[in-house]
Amino acid sequence: MRVAFLGLGIMGRPMAANLVKAGHEATVWNRTPGKEVEGARSASSPAEAANGAEVVWMSVSDTKAVESVLFGSQGVEQSLTQGMTIVDSSTISPSATRKFAERVRSRGVQYVDAPVTGSKVGAESGTLIFIVGGDEGVIETLKPLFTAMGKQIFRMGETGKGQAAKLAMNLQIAIIYEGFAEALTLATKLGVDAETMLPLIQASMVRSGVVDYKAPFVLKRDFTANFPLRLMHKDIHLALEAAKEARVKLPALEIVEEVYEVASEDGYQDLDYAATLTLLEKWAGVEVKGATA
Ligand code: NAP
Repeated sequence: MRVAFLGLGIMGRPMAANLVKAGHEATVWNRTPGKEVEGARSASSPAEAANGAEVVWMSVSDTKAVESVLFGSQGVEQSLTQGMTIVDSSTISPSATRKFAERVRSRGVQYVDAPVTGSKVGAESGTLIFIVGGDEGVIETLKPLFTAMGKQIFRMGETGKGQAAKLAMNLQIAIIYEGFAEALTLATKLGVDAETMLPLIQASMVRSGVVDYKAPFVLKRDFTANFPLRLMHKDIHLALEAAKEARVKLPALEIVEEVYEVASEDGYQDLDYAATLTLLEKWAGVEVKGATA
């Protein structure tokens, strides 16, 4: 298929590379020039990239970024053609998603929200899980693209529901990781080290995919970004905002947000969100580490 891929960050670049590998004809664009994908043509604006594309796929930071890529001065809107499909794999506001979808649908263009879970490793290995909102028939036509980049697709309902479900997923990841980090900090302070705790955690009902993924990085004290703290903080804000709109109370997430607030003030934004552990360590006066650190 002819695809325009917009946004070549941690996730977007390997996703676009996997489309090329699967034989699709890709044109890529990134706001900051200089990022390229082997085998893909580079465009100088979203409008130029979208020109002639059957599908426009986005992976950019946040709601504002999606709005500007779509409707900014050189945005995709200028190249919309009847029958085109726009897919958004960024994590953004569900209500803004519905508005963007309405605006392009009035021009005969389909809109699918398809945020992902699986992080950098999933994007690189083509094993992402897509959390999708949109028309079933349209989603079916996108299958060759989904399978080039991911291993599973979950349709949550109509447009906007992919984003809603994604926020509910990241809410859990943020809270589960905070629990893990607090447990390791307390155990270390009480004299039980992380390497001794881990087999116990993983043998018990506490076991989780979040721990599976993050523990090796924590033990090595490698906090380079797989999922930057600033983006998890953005998702926590999105979840709290959606909760406020729907009159839902999320007390645990509100507290975790405060940890992210302090971490951001301390300059951790570009580290992985796993670095929130280091704040707990600072407050407790301990360091959690494995033999490999
Ligand atoms: P990233 O590495 O920070 O990349 C962000 C991308 O967005 C870059 O290409 C950046 O362009 C672009 N961008 C930012 N603001 C823009 C604007 N105003 N206009 C146009 N482009 C803009 O982030 P990422 O990790 O790839 O994440 C991308 C999306 O996927 C985010 O919504 C994130 O929440 C979601 N996500 C990430 C992960 C993960 O583990 N990393 C997992 C699941 C979902 P520049 O190069 O010019 O800055």
